Amino acid sequence: SLAQHDASADELARRSEIFASAQERYYERPMQIERGWRHHLVDTTGRSYIDMVNNVTGLGHGHPGVADAVNRQIRRLNTNSRFLYRELAEYSERLLALLPEGSALDTVLLVNSGSEAVDLALRLAQAATGRNTIVALREAYHGWTMASDAVTTSAYDNPHALENRPDWVHVADVPNRFRGTYRGAGTGAKYAADLGADLQRLADEGRDVAAFICESVLGNAGGVLLPDGYLADVYARVRAAGGLCIADEVQVGFGRMGSSFWGFEQSGVLPDIVTIAKPMGNGFPIGGVITSKRIADALAMQGQFFSSAGGNPLSCRVGIAVLDAMEQEGLQQNALRVGGRLAAGFRALAERHEIVGPIHGEGLYLGVELVRDRETLEPATAEAAAICERLRELGVIVLTTSERSNVLKVKPPLCLTEESADAVLAALDRVLTEGW
Ligand code: PMP
Repeated sequence: SLAQHDASADELARRSEIFASAQERYYERPMQIERGWRHHLVDTTGRSYIDMVNNVTGLGHGHPGVADAVNRQIRRLNTNSRFLYRELAEYSERLLALLPEGSALDTVLLVNSGSEAVDLALRLAQAATGRNTIVALREAYHGWTMASDAVTTSAYDNPHALENRPDWVHVADVPNRFRGTYRGAGTGAKYAADLGADLQRLADEGRDVAAFICESVLGNAGGVLLPDGYLADVYARVRAAGGLCIADEVQVGFGRMGSSFWGFEQSGVLPDIVTIAKPMGNGFPIGGVITSKRIADALAMQGQFFSSAGGNPLSCRVGIAVLDAMEQEGLQQNALRVGGRLAAGFRALAERHEIVGPIHGEGLYLGVELVRDRETLEPATAEAAAICERLRELGVIVLTTSERSNVLKVKPPLCLTEESADAVLAALDRVLTEGW
């Protein structure tokens, strides 16, 4: 029938039967999404929502440039990646051109997801250094595969995260300058010194570091920017100890910061290995590792590296279409402009609503931390969930993050307009004023 009907209850029942209990869903009464266009999602009743969480579809939903690229390439050629075809070199060159001038990163390995990218990055680091130990930060998410899950330390994703790390993982303190061990702007050196002491202890135990991995902005902790000087100091200490530095840019890279294409540029550092995924394919599964030939060649000591679909002609063509659209549509600049407007709006709300604590992030990767008390920073977890439910009723999709689930994560498609940003701010103001 042409009449719209709410199919979400049927769909929910159907999923409950076939899903494992660990598979997540986010709302008490989730809507069933049928279509997407730019930064809007439309459900089966015809209701539209402003989508503030889809960082995978960086260009926006239903992008015609991506759709056309898929259509053309899948008719022409898609093969497993063993053959010679030009799309792979073309896309890899385009990716390398995005790195800052003077970087030694000249080699690309393409896979299909962020978890695979992190897994491969860890393997590369271990192969290149001949060591095993990986240092990861508390409250991180890096993926679901065996290795990427091993460096996933967030208690949200795994309540036993700190009890059951494999012995090749060392978990270091998270440099959260808002609610961490040290608080305030000038704490980078203190956190870095603590990590330096960890490196020394590991060396004393004969567990020299192979690599340090972190998100260049603490995405899964709520978009928390690293304290000034932290990353440069830590990278120097890791390198002095003979280890490599891995920047996980799966969430915070690719133009989302607005003021820089990469998250690590916020800290003025250059990693040895960069992992990328989510927005590369605008929803089409693509992941990648960017590193130097010296490090990548170490993999050959372990044998061949082969991914059947990683870097195939179709995914490369999609990747190129995404980069073209990002440039043509000025999306990084839009992230800077609209993200700045949103952050200012959230800060204005913090002046009027007690529950709004620190506003984290940069560009269109923001986190609105909700607290019951601004001194104790007691997380307003239940309130955050209720606020998301109420925002949903008002047509805005926002979800929570951090291991306390008290940060509203704001990472919309980069095409978000000022008009929609203002509508989101007005809706949040209304919810905070009404109560929840
Ligand atoms: N790294 C980070 C920082 C992530 O946020 C994620 C996914 N949330 C991953 C890696 C894993 O990516 P994927 O889900 O594509 O495997």
